[in-house]
Amino acid sequence: MSTLYIIPTPIGNLEDITLRALRLLKEVDFILAEDTRTTKKLLNHYEIQNQLIANHIHNEHKALQGHIDRIKAARAVALVSDAGTPAISDPGFLLVRECYLQGIDVVCLPGATAIIPAIVGSGFPLNSFVFEGFLPHKKGRQTKWKQLADEQRTIVLYESPHRIVKCLKEIQEFLGEERQVCVARELSKLHEEFLRGTAGEIIAHFDKHPPKGEIVVVIDANK
Ligand code: SAM
Repeated sequence: MSTLYIIPTPIGNLEDITLRALRLLKEVDFILAEDTRTTKKLLNHYEIQNQLIANHIHNEHKALQGHIDRIKAARAVALVSDAGTPAISDPGFLLVRECYLQGIDVVCLPGATAIIPAIVGSGFPLNSFVFEGFLPHKKGRQTKWKQLADEQRTIVLYESPHRIVKCLKEIQEFLGEERQVCVARELSKLHEEFLRGTAGEIIAHFDKHPPKGEIVVVIDANK
């Protein structure tokens, strides 16, 4: 019986990885990685030697059955993405679903993901929240904002530094100028920063300090 282990990897500080994750990365027969070069750096840091096989998002459909065949021929395999938890806005979902369909055990380790430190650090109510990942860049983006205008729960988005100001302007337009927002930037890295305020206040900050790095946007529940 084969097992696929889903292994979260650090989103910033390389110490943000569990002992169990490190042990499994050593012990599995091989590691499926979103980008083998990125994972190689992590393995080198922890002096782990193991075989890496690419599981790139653009190739996920085509490579699926090949990966399933390799997993079936193995005892234990790990799936990692470049950072954080696989399948969260990263490749992984197709493989997990196919493993269940083909009778392969799947074990998901708890660990690093950008969502959790961002929402907990936001200070917004967390009894319920909705995670939207990356909004569509063009087609469907307005429709999504119109749906979010009726959302009663805390909203979590992933956003790029190139689109963050556009996103904040959309929050003003669709959710209102008074809505409180938290922009969590560079979590677990040297320049980690939480910006809290209205979208307008955060735009004013970015006018002086152009946005850089990786960003999670947390939007307060509609009161
Ligand atoms: N699988 C990852 C996870 O579990 O969080 C997410 C991968 S997704 C391709 C990358 C996006 O996650 C970034 O564009 C950013 O929105 C968010 N992200 C990842 N690392 C982050 C960090 N250290 N600080 C803030 N946001 C981060």
